[in-house]
Amino acid sequence: MTGVLTCGVDIGSTASKCVVLKDGREILAMAVIPVGAGTSGPARAVAAALGNCGKEMSDMASVCSTGYGRNSLAEADFEVSELSCHAKGAHALFPDVRTLIDIGGQDVKAMRIGPDGRLLNFVMNDKCAAGTGRFLDVMARVLEVDVSELGARGAKAEREVAISSTCTVFAESEVISHLANHVAINDIIAGIHRSVASRAVGLTRRVGVEGLVVMTGGVARNPGVVGCIETALGVSIATSPLAQYAGAFGAAILAFERVRGTPAGTHVPAGTHVIAEKK
Ligand code: ADP
Repeated sequence: MTGVLTCGVDIGSTASKCVVLKDGREILAMAVIPVGAGTSGPARAVAAALGNCGKEMSDMASVCSTGYGRNSLAEADFEVSELSCHAKGAHALFPDVRTLIDIGGQDVKAMRIGPDGRLLNFVMNDKCAAGTGRFLDVMARVLEVDVSELGARGAKAEREVAISSTCTVFAESEVISHLANHVAINDIIAGIHRSVASRAVGLTRRVGVEGLVVMTGGVARNPGVVGCIETALGVSIATSPLAQYAGAFGAAILAFERVRGTPAGTHVPAGTHVIAEKK
């Protein structure tokens, strides 16, 4: 197989993601490991993605790391902030994106994106766990529900309960108290989704809602949170099965652009994705 192979590695606070790209547009393999910076996650994500497409690190023309732990990857040729990588990845997935919401494990970002996929402006909350994946992970543990089940469970709520505390620790106590009062778990989950969504909604309004709104990051995999944000903003939000990989995908595209010296500038045609997710 000919072609320029590049690798993007997103070392997040909560999960490590790796994407191997051919010619800046075709995803050959990707992998996510649900542990992030400072763990074996990054190395395992890289090994899984390379293994899935039968390649070695030495086959990569360039490797770009991004995310919270981006400076910890010895194999990286260069590092780029996750803001730029998510903007790049989201633009490749949805060329019309103008507003981007990224909710990861420990921060929430709202971004304005230019027509060329460049980041124009952003606001973020990385000061507390409210509104982040961590908030969902903490509540899921208390409710004894897998985080991947929250969306489906919340959709079955009959009488959503409000979670009034912003602080994750107090909100956790509130959830425990709801459980003790025999409130249905699905109703609690719906309230948790609304709480998480409200943080992203506030940030997105500050950055300005314009054009196509896209959501990336692991929390985009939770349709309950996405739906609450859509309702509050009064817009449809585009998501992709690749949402959690957007940063790694963007990093791999930037690595290609660095090799070529020109922007890849293409979106990924439907059907070219090889989803090889290792847990
Ligand atoms: P980071 O880059 O900060 O490590 P991610 O963008 O990878 O974070 O998002 C991690 C978050 O995604 C987790 O905290 C979790 O809440 C959420 N998440 C991960 N997998 C799933 C899933 N299968 N369904 C719903 N949410 C998920």
